[in-house]
Amino acid sequence: MLARLFQTGADVFRLNFSHGTHDDHAARFAMIRELEERFNRPIGVLADVQGPKLRVGRFSGGRVFLQTGQPLLLDLNPTPGSASRVNLPHPEIIEAAQIGCSLLLDDGKLRLRVVRKRPDALETEVVVGGPLSDHKGVNVPDVVLPIPALTQKDRDDLAFALEHGANYIGLSFVQRPEDVAEAKALIRGRAWVMVKLEKPQALENLDAIMQLTDAVMVARGDLGVELPPEEVPLAQKRIVRTARQLGKPVVVATQMLESMISAPAPTRAEASDVATAVFDGTDAVMLSGETAAGQYPFEAVNMMDRIVARVEQDPGWRNMIETSRGEPEHATADAIAAAARQVCHTIGAKAVVAYTDSGATALRVARERPEAPIICLTPHLTTARRMAVVWGLHAVVAADAHSMGEAVTRAQRVAHVEGFAEHGDEIVVAAGVPFGHSGTTNSLRVATVR
Ligand code: PGA
Ligand code: MN
Repeated sequence: MLARLFQTGADVFRLNFSHGTHDDHAARFAMIRELEERFNRPIGVLADVQGPKLRVGRFSGGRVFLQTGQPLLLDLNPTPGSASRVNLPHPEIIEAAQIGCSLLLDDGKLRLRVVRKRPDALETEVVVGGPLSDHKGVNVPDVVLPIPALTQKDRDDLAFALEHGANYIGLSFVQRPEDVAEAKALIRGRAWVMVKLEKPQALENLDAIMQLTDAVMVARGDLGVELPPEEVPLAQKRIVRTARQLGKPVVVATQMLESMISAPAPTRAEASDVATAVFDGTDAVMLSGETAAGQYPFEAVNMMDRIVARVEQDPGWRNMIETSRGEPEHATADAIAAAARQVCHTIGAKAVVAYTDSGATALRVARERPEAPIICLTPHLTTARRMAVVWGLHAVVAADAHSMGEAVTRAQRVAHVEGFAEHGDEIVVAAGVPFGHSGTTNSLRVATVR
C-alpha cells in the first residue's frame, strides 16, 4: 500500500508517535527507505512527536455519561473515576486554570467550566455533556500551559526518530518561540523542525515562532478544538501567507478528506477544502486518518493529487500566486531566484534547475513559484529528502559540479532524463560559482537541451 500511495502522489510519510511502539515505527522507516531505493526517488519522513497532550485518567467501567449542568471534580487522585469525579494527572494545569476558564474533552465534544479552585483539584460544571471514556484528551484553550513542549516521551521519541533518519520533526502544541529553540538545540540540524500550530497562544506568537522554525503545519484538528470553527479558515490563511512570505514550507493538515475514511469519494466541501489550501498557496496538503486507518487510502491520495494538479492548472490559481508574491529579500540568492522565475516566464523554459547544498537556494526559488517545475540538484541525500515537502520541487542527488560548464551539462542531462525537457527545450540554471561553497548562489544561465 505504501508503494501505491507513493506512486499516486504521496511525497512525505508521517509517522505519528502518538501511536505505536518504536518497533512499529522502525519497521515503517525500513519500508519507506526500501521504497526509496526501489523507485530511486528521495522520500521525506515526518516524525511527529506527541507533545504535552493532556488526558483525563480512567473510569471504573471504562466510560461514564456526563450530564449537562452537573458538577465534575478533576483531581490528582489516580483511582478510577465516576460521573462526578475523575483524575486529571497534570498538577500544573490544576494550578494554572482560572475560575471561568473552559476545559474541552474528547476533541472538544464535551465542555467544562471551572467554578472553584482547590489546592489539588478543580471544581467544574459540565456545560456540554456526553459520553466520556478512559484517557480522552483535554484541551485548555484559555491558558498558556506552564509545561515544556517536549515531554520525556517526546525526548525518547525524538532521539529514536533522528537515529532512524527522520527528515522533519513535527512539534505538537508549541506555544512559545522558546519551545522551538529548545527543540532545535536538541535536534542540532539533523532534521528540519516542523512546528504544528494548534494552540491559540502560538498564533499570538506567530511571527517569532515562524522566524525560528524550518517548516510549519496548520494542524487544524487540535486548532479547531482550541479555536471557534469560524476562526480556523482565517488562521490557515494567515499562517500560509506568513510561511510563503518567509519561504518556509507549510503543510495544511487534518480532516481534508475525512469522509473518505469510510467512502470511496469525498464530499464536495472536502474537495473544495483541498482546493482552498492550494489557492491559499500551501506547499503541501496532508491526510491522517484517511490513510492511517481508513478503508480507501489509495483513493484518498489519488483524489487529493487530482485536486491539487487540477487547481494548479487553473489561470485563477496562477493569478492568485502572482498577486500574492512577496518582494525578494535583499540577498543575492533571492535576486537570482526572482530572475530565474522571470526568465523562465519570458522564454517559456521547461524547468528551473537549482544547485543547492543545504536546500536554501531551492527554497528561495520555490518561494518565487515559477511557472515550470524546479529541479533541485544536491550532493546530499538528506537535503533531497527534505525537499520532498516543498512546493514544485523535484530533487535529484548528484555530485557537485566543478565548473559552470559542467553544471549546465549536468542540468541539461537531468532535465531530459527525468522527463522535464525534450531536445530543443530551454532550461534555466541557477548555481553558485565557484562551486563547493555553501551560500554563494550568484549565477544564472539559460541552456538548450541537446
Ligand atoms: P495530530 O496533529 O493529528 O497529531 O493531532 C494534527 C492536528 O491536530 O491537526
Ligand atoms: Mn494535533
